[in-house]
Amino acid sequence: MQSRPLVARSSSSPILASHEPPSVAVHNAGASSPFLLLGDHAGNRIPESLGQLGLDATERKRHIAWDIGVAELGVRLADRIGASFIHQVYSRLVIDCNRRPGAPDSIPATSDKTAIPGNEGLDAAQAELRAAAILEPYQKAISDEIDRRAKLGQETILIALHSFTPNMSGLDRPWHVGILHDAGDNRFARAMLEVLGSDPDLIVGDNEPYSMDTIDFTIPFHAYPRTLPYAEIEIRQDLLAVAAGIEEWSERLGRVLVASHRSLRGPR
Ligand SMILES: [Zn+2]
Repeated sequence: MQSRPLVARSSSSPILASHEPPSVAVHNAGASSPFLLLGDHAGNRIPESLGQLGLDATERKRHIAWDIGVAELGVRLADRIGASFIHQVYSRLVIDCNRRPGAPDSIPATSDKTAIPGNEGLDAAQAELRAAAILEPYQKAISDEIDRRAKLGQETILIALHSFTPNMSGLDRPWHVGILHDAGDNRFARAMLEVLGSDPDLIVGDNEPYSMDTIDFTIPFHAYPRTLPYAEIEIRQDLLAVAAGIEEWSERLGRVLVASHRSLRGPR
């Protein structure tokens, strides 16, 4: 995959005002767990300069704007397993951090049949400003953390946390959880599928509701060149709709991550 180098930019931006939060949030910075948790779509803020992209408050809370429940899930899971959680603060409708900058759906003009007025007719220079303000600092924070850990000889397994809407284009999605994987070192993802699959109460999607491919950006960009183990986890949003569900899934994922790690390392 062709990728531009990620460079540090000055913090002043015509997109983000100085009183607005930076695009990257890090929970438990510098934690020592082998797992590094990522939330590309955890936020739904829209920079004030973009005027809510022309969307009302209801649309801004829908799944089109973010992965519902993932910010809370990531924090809970990170605390449970002693991991860092790096997550995006701004909406994927501003720029999708799991898409290569410049990709056709990086800044969508429609999402799940909803028009995004603020994204219509965007030129390359405007798209570049959003990438510089939102996507690049986020991806650079991930790169820097992986490099820091590598220098310390610390193992890193990248875990991308996502959630999916229960119904898309009139079709119900039966899976409780999906594990997405493609190229690179996908042994950890397959170990997770095995551990999750041993629970008779769960419907587990193997590359469902989506297949991972090079349309995805974060995992291919960071994990493949470094041959890091990884898994992209998708959880159905109705299961994360209330605090008890988030608690249940953070507990389950904590167990499954540890068991999958152990199964790959073999008996000791
Ligand atoms: Zn997502």
